[in-house]
Amino acid sequence: MSSRPMPPPNPLTAGFWEAARRHELVLQRCACGRFRHYPQPLCPECYGGDWSWVPVSGKGAIYTYTVTHRPFHPAWAGQTPYVVATVELPEGVRMVSDLPPEDTEAVRIGAPVEVFFDDHEAVTLPRFRLVR
Ligand SMILES: [Zn+2]
Repeated sequence: MSSRPMPPPNPLTAGFWEAARRHELVLQRCACGRFRHYPQPLCPECYGGDWSWVPVSGKGAIYTYTVTHRPFHPAWAGQTPYVVATVELPEGVRMVSDLPPEDTEAVRIGAPVEVFFDDHEAVTLPRFRLVR
């Protein structure tokens, strides 16, 4: 089985991945107050470049999802079906995550989710699961 491809941290995203390693979810927040994700150098609201990493609760809700039956990468062969979801956080941003296998049947739009941290050698992935 091939290994799961991992996101390569870069100078702009390093703070996000360092927080994930500490099992903390952080988001970029502009000096104007707007949160954003994925990390970007400039604010899409005010074009300002003054921002900081702000810890958030990691609670959210399923905005939409798809049940994947054909793996897009060999690392997921034998793990289908699995759910890829867009999660909406109360800070006004959306994040994409696969859900744990036990959530495949129960997932629904609007279902509450929470972040959990999936530790790998290179990076720790913030992922989401249904709140039961
Ligand atoms: Zn701004």
